[in-house]
Amino acid sequence: MSHLMNTYARQNITFTHGEGAWLWDTDGKRYLDALSGIAVNTLGHAHPRFTAALSAQIGKLIHTSNLYRVQEQEAIADKLCELSRMQEVFMCNSGCEANEAAIKLARLYGHNKGISEPTIIVMEKAFHGRTLATLSATGNRKVQAGFEPLVSGFVRVAYDDLDAIRQIAQHTPNIVAVLVEPIQGEGGIRTPDISYLQGLRKICDEHEWLLMLDEVQCGLGRTGKWFAFQHTNIMPDVMTLAKGLGSGVPVGACLAAGKATGTFKPGNHGSTFGGNPLASTAALATLNIMEQDKLLANAEKLGTWLKQQFEARLGGVKGVVTVRGQGLMLGIELDKPCGALVAKALEKGLIINVTADSVIRLLPSLIFSQAEAQQLLDILCPLVTEFLAQE
Ligand SMILES: *Cc1c(COP(=O)(O)O)cnc(C)c1O
Repeated sequence: MSHLMNTYARQNITFTHGEGAWLWDTDGKRYLDALSGIAVNTLGHAHPRFTAALSAQIGKLIHTSNLYRVQEQEAIADKLCELSRMQEVFMCNSGCEANEAAIKLARLYGHNKGISEPTIIVMEKAFHGRTLATLSATGNRKVQAGFEPLVSGFVRVAYDDLDAIRQIAQHTPNIVAVLVEPIQGEGGIRTPDISYLQGLRKICDEHEWLLMLDEVQCGLGRTGKWFAFQHTNIMPDVMTLAKGLGSGVPVGACLAAGKATGTFKPGNHGSTFGGNPLASTAALATLNIMEQDKLLANAEKLGTWLKQQFEARLGGVKGVVTVRGQGLMLGIELDKPCGALVAKALEKGLIINVTADSVIRLLPSLIFSQAEAQQLLDILCPLVTEFLAQE
């Protein structure tokens, strides 16, 4: 028996090492990794230039605290603002922390405007994390059950429904922000209408609310642009990042622009580890290598091709509801729960995930090659067809 708290129903597999898009288990069996640690290993496993950058930093300095200036943290903030055109950054260690920062920022923004009980609009099927505030913002009862009382100050509306927001605006006085994923990840790779973010931007401007985008899963090149909002012509006021930012090293960030800029003052928020030299170097090296190796273009090209291929091979199969997503963030929705596919894929040497019960979720690293994408198709498509043909 393990002494770990029983928080995960784990597959009984232990990986010992990896290279690129491949992982090896303790029996020496090789797996194609189409999940990359849930959208985390942007550069795949054991990327040589990433390893070298981290090793050099570890030999120099890992941590000093935020009581001093941190050169690497200033550099990653500059880089994130250059790429996103946001204005300032708070560095932390995970997605829930980035969202906690966003939620605190929105409340402070409200208090600064004289709103003593600020309310944030959140979405059905949203996922924002497992801390008390972020699980309260999450739109999944399974995540919340047993942890009541929930944090107050959230109102929930349907995703991809601008009218629902306009309606709630009429009878809820203290709204200060909308928190939303541009593509819902845990909720089942749900992509809203292309006009949704623009509509949200307009409503937020009309009411002086902050538009806060949770790009923890969909950000950082996964959809083929640096950030998912860049597929539109709008800017958010707040954006949160984590998962892929450190290519496996825990790093999160909360970015602000426009009227959200300058909200936090010394003493309002903090993190002991946040943005330390090691974490910041991991993030900087990730972004630099993504640029050098043109990984956005790869995500866009391979993702488009993969989606077409899945549509061609599975689109007409009875039991396949839709293939959706953008770039290397793809979901295949079936008409029945399909968690059993995860173990079946592992047997065949393929790592995938199932979310929202019936959606096969693919989040390969951005270094995936055409040949690897072909292998993914050739293993997964027959598995899905066989699975659906049963019973
Ligand atoms: C994973 C995820 C989070 C939570 O990130 P953690 O690092 O696990 O705290 C928040 N928002 C979204 C959209 C996510 O996918």
